[in-house]
Amino acid sequence: MSSAAPLSADRVYRFHRAGDEETLALQGVSFDLNPGEFVAVVGPSGSGKSTLFSCLTGLDEPSGGTVWIDGQRISHQPEALRARLRADHIGVVSQGSNLFTHLTLLGNMRLAQKLSSHPGADIDELLGSLGIQKRSHAYPSELSGGESARAGLAVALANDPSVLIADEPTGELDEATEAGILELFHDRAERGKAVLIASHSAAVRKAADRVLSLEDGRLLS
Ligand code: ADP
Ligand code: MG
Repeated sequence: MSSAAPLSADRVYRFHRAGDEETLALQGVSFDLNPGEFVAVVGPSGSGKSTLFSCLTGLDEPSGGTVWIDGQRISHQPEALRARLRADHIGVVSQGSNLFTHLTLLGNMRLAQKLSSHPGADIDELLGSLGIQKRSHAYPSELSGGESARAGLAVALANDPSVLIADEPTGELDEATEAGILELFHDRAERGKAVLIASHSAAVRKAADRVLSLEDGRLLS
């Protein structure tokens, strides 16, 4: 399966129904991520970025279409299998925190590594590259907004995933810190890992190898 794309989405649809009201959050989104590629997803608020990312990470189930991660189908699968694929192959940063509040940052990273069936990243190196090594023993509630954003990335990358899927990961960061994180994404891509980032940031758009524009649940070509 080494030849498979790290991520492949084929005609992904997601409808939300509330009473008689139907929202078409995603209307047939298809794209592949290549190994070593850093891709940004941009689009106005409400265009479907978070819905798309939830479907790609298996946290939500598309109403139609298929998602593969490293050649394995993650959509329309039992939760246990989706969780396994996530633990082994994907780094997930959702809007809001992906940390367990009763564990320190280090505890969260170790848990992510324990859940994965392959060796993870070097924790000290990862914390160092994110500039939060001094905060490793802090609990999530003790972290500032900027530290939380970086902690979320540290936990997402602890399993050394073949694809990082992060929803607005630099939204809370100042320019200099964001630049450091973009460098980290580049380093990952250079090591053959795929990086998919939803963002409003011009710096992210500029740093990416490819930009996908989402509008009303459709990718513009
Ligand atoms: P973005 O992340 O680009 O701001 P979202 O994916 O959050 O966009 O939202 C896409 C559309 O789907 C919006 O119209 C939003 O109101 C709608 N939507 C998202 N989640 C739900 C939900 N759970 N129930 C109903 N509508 C939803
Ligand atoms: Mg969103």
